[in-house]
Amino acid sequence: ASTLGPKATDSLWRQAIIRKNDSINAIVHVASEDASEALANGPLQKVAIAVKDNICTKSMPTTCSSAMLKDFRSPYDATVVRLLKEAGADLVGKTNLDEFGMGSLNTYSIHGPVVNPFQLPNEDSSWESREQRSAGGSSGGSAAAVAADMCYAALGTDTGGSIRLPASYCGVTGFKPSYGLISRYGVVSFADSLDCVGVIAKTTKRVRAVAEVIMVPDARDPTSASHALRSNASSHSPRLSATRLDGLRVGVPAEYFPSELATSVITPTRRVLSAFQSLGATIVSVSLPSTPYALSAYYVIACAEASSNLARYDGVEYGLNVTVQRTRSGDTAMRSYAATRTQGFGPEVRKRILLGTYALRADAFDNYFQQALRVRQLVRDDFNKTFRSPDVRFMVSPPAPAADQHGVDIIVHPTAIQPAPLIDDNTKQGLDAYVQDVLTVPASLAGLPALSIRSESSIRDSHEWPIGVTIVGQWGSDDMVLRVGEMVD
Ligand code: GLN
Repeated sequence: ASTLGPKATDSLWRQAIIRKNDSINAIVHVASEDASEALANGPLQKVAIAVKDNICTKSMPTTCSSAMLKDFRSPYDATVVRLLKEAGADLVGKTNLDEFGMGSLNTYSIHGPVVNPFQLPNEDSSWESREQRSAGGSSGGSAAAVAADMCYAALGTDTGGSIRLPASYCGVTGFKPSYGLISRYGVVSFADSLDCVGVIAKTTKRVRAVAEVIMVPDARDPTSASHALRSNASSHSPRLSATRLDGLRVGVPAEYFPSELATSVITPTRRVLSAFQSLGATIVSVSLPSTPYALSAYYVIACAEASSNLARYDGVEYGLNVTVQRTRSGDTAMRSYAATRTQGFGPEVRKRILLGTYALRADAFDNYFQQALRVRQLVRDDFNKTFRSPDVRFMVSPPAPAADQHGVDIIVHPTAIQPAPLIDDNTKQGLDAYVQDVLTVPASLAGLPALSIRSESSIRDSHEWPIGVTIVGQWGSDDMVLRVGEMVD
C-alpha cells in the first residue's frame, strides 16, 4: 500500500481538499476525520477514495445531486462501499454528479457545476483564473477530484459513458467494467440494464488496485455475474506477455470517426495506436455498422428505465415531502405527488421521465421501446462478429476450437468527439449535449468493458486540453483490457 499514492491521514490534508474544492466543486460532502471506519491491514489501507453521490453511504448523505434527496441518508452502505472499507480505504467524501446520473457535462446538479481542474504543463496562470471548462458528466466530480489530486481514486457510475467522458475531459483514466462484474447493490438506479459502477484514477495501475477489490460476485445484486461465468470469460481472453502486445489484434472501427468528431482528436488517437503497434500489436480496420443508431436506442432505453425507476420518489416512500392543502375534491394524494416531483426533480430529469413514459405507452411501445431493443441486439451482434472471443453470457455451445483468426481482441476509438467544452456554452444543451455520448453508448448497450486513457500526445504536441482514447474488449475480458491500458498510460 505504500506505493499507492496520497493518503488521507491528517486534518491538514483534509483542509487542503476543502480549499481546492472551493473553486472546483468536485466534492459535495467531505467526510469528517473521525467518521473513518476503515479497517487496518487491507490492500487499500489508508488510501483516499471519493465516492460518487449516487452510491449509498451510511456515514455521509447521498443526494444524487437532486433536491428530491437533499436530506436523504442511507441506512446502509452499498456493497462497493463496504468492500472498500473492508480493504482499509479512507472514504474522503462524496462527489458531485449530474442529477441521478443524467447528463454529460455535470451542469445539472443542485450543488452547481464542476469546474475542470486540468492544468496545462508549463501554464503560468492557474486554472482558477482562466475560462471554465466542463469536467464532463455525469461522474464529473469523481474525475475532477482525481485530476486535482484530492484523492487517489474515485468511484463513478457509467450508464452511457458517465465515467469515460469525464475521464477524457479531465485527462485521467476511467474504467467501466463489464456489466455485472461490480455489484450495484446500494447504487441508486438510473437505468438498471445499463448501470455499472467503475473506477477513475490517474493511471490504469491505480484503477486496477481499486477495481480488484470491488470486482467480486454479490448475492445481493441479482445481475451480478457468478464466479463460473467470470472464469469462463477470462479463459477465452488472449494471454499477454508482461511487457509486449505480440499477437494482440486491435480493431479500429470506421464508424467511430463521425462527422461531429473534432479534428484535434485524430492525432492523439493515432498516437495510442502507434504505441500498441510498437509493442507488437496488429492494427486492423473493422466495421460496426449499427453504431450510428446506438445513440437514439440508448436514449429511448435509458429514459424508459429511468421513468420506471424514478416512480418511487413520490414523497411518501422516498423523497422530498411536500405538503399540500386538503381540498374537497379529494385529489390530495395526486396533487402531493405532483408537487413533490415538480419541486424535487430538475428539468432534465422531468424531461426524461416524460420521454420514457411516452416510449412505454401501449401506442408507442412497438415503434420506440421495441425498436430500441432491436437496435441494441444489432449493436451486440456487431461486436460479437468483430471480436475473436465469444460473449460467454449468451454462448449456447462451446466455440469452434480454431479461434476466428480474422477477429480482434480489442477495439480502440476516441472516447469523446471533442476536448472539454466551456461550461457556459449554451449550444451544448438538449440534443447537442446528447451527442457527446455518441462514441460511448455502444459499449454500454452491449455491456462491454471499456477503459478510457489519456493520450499523452494531445498535451505534449498541441498544448491542447486532454483527449481520451478508449479500449473496448469482449464481455469479461476486463483483466486483459486493464493490462493493455497499463502498458501505455
Ligand atoms: N450522458 C448520458 C446520459 O445523460 C450517460 C449518463 C451516464 O452514463 N450516467 O444519459
